[in-house]
Amino acid sequence: MKPSAPSEFSLIEFIRSQDQAMPENLLRQIGDDCAVFDPAKMHRMVASTDLLIEDTHFRNRWTTPRWLGRKACAVNASDLAAMGAAPYASLLCLGLPTERTGAYFREFILGFLEENRKYGMTLIGGDLSASLKVTVAVTVLGSIEEGEPIYRSGARAGDLILTIGKLGYSRAGLEHLRKHADLDISSIRSLDELEKVAGCPEAAAWLEAHNLPEAQVTPACWLRRGGLANAMIDISDGLGNDLLHILEESGVSAEIDLARLEAIAGISSVETSRDLSLNGGEDYALLFTASEQQYDRIRSAYPAAWPPFRVLGRITPGRGELYLLESGRKTPYSRKGYDHFE
Ligand code: ADP
Ligand code: MG
Repeated sequence: MKPSAPSEFSLIEFIRSQDQAMPENLLRQIGDDCAVFDPAKMHRMVASTDLLIEDTHFRNRWTTPRWLGRKACAVNASDLAAMGAAPYASLLCLGLPTERTGAYFREFILGFLEENRKYGMTLIGGDLSASLKVTVAVTVLGSIEEGEPIYRSGARAGDLILTIGKLGYSRAGLEHLRKHADLDISSIRSLDELEKVAGCPEAAAWLEAHNLPEAQVTPACWLRRGGLANAMIDISDGLGNDLLHILEESGVSAEIDLARLEAIAGISSVETSRDLSLNGGEDYALLFTASEQQYDRIRSAYPAAWPPFRVLGRITPGRGELYLLESGRKTPYSRKGYDHFE
């Protein structure tokens, strides 16, 4: 970094000086060459990583550094949730243009740590570098104390297909930003202010879903511990695309009843609302399958305070085909989600 910029050491010191929970089996965190932990209590350890690049995955004008820090953590926690694993630790690699090593950096770190705390994770290390665009690479570790993760490959014919979390709102937010491309929300301080800039409460809810996704960690761990789901994934590329992953890995087919999709508040066209819900992306909702018996147990024991679950359809025998049911008609689904290399 340039001499006028804060030194790498002072940036790391800022991170180190923040309050963080110390899991008892963590022996060394930030400050040595590696973090060290005692894995004795972990029956299974899961790991995942994700990359967020300015102008590819996000625009600085369309979020705030605090929210970007939170989202960078939440999308990774969502991958842990998809396995039913408890978030344990994160590592953060950050590339920043020199002019973003001040308030932007501090806000980002505060957001990242706030979200880590929320999911019970500790930031244990990382790296920093100057770069032309903001580049965020987060690695997360999750633990399973007993039993096995829930894989994409466990769906069986006859299972119900369920979701937890809203679908399509995040994409509605992205479309709103694209339509109002000169909107700059980067210096907003609160969600109340967001509503003023967005123009209406519905659009503010879409923007919130897009910028502050919620990882469904608690319900996911509950489902796994109770043996209540056969296959699970988090919806990052749209319901249709991610359900196809389950179907392909499990060697089954499925039917989704479009009438069961929740209407998106503020979208008057049923067709648009269904399209966003099916093909949106970045929802970070949980998608899982459960047998009738598992579903009975979910219905009777699922805490009312958690985000509600919805039954959207059923797994059928087959070879990876997805069908949509609409007013008695059955049509094959074709992939429409977002592909970075298209
Ligand atoms: P090294 O030269 O071994 O890569 P660094 O000087 O880059 O070490 O980092 C010193 C310590 O600070 C290490 O423990 C590293 O994990 C931690 N660290 C560096 N960058 C970050 C970051 N962005 N977030 C958390 N910890 C970091
Ligand atoms: Mg380093």
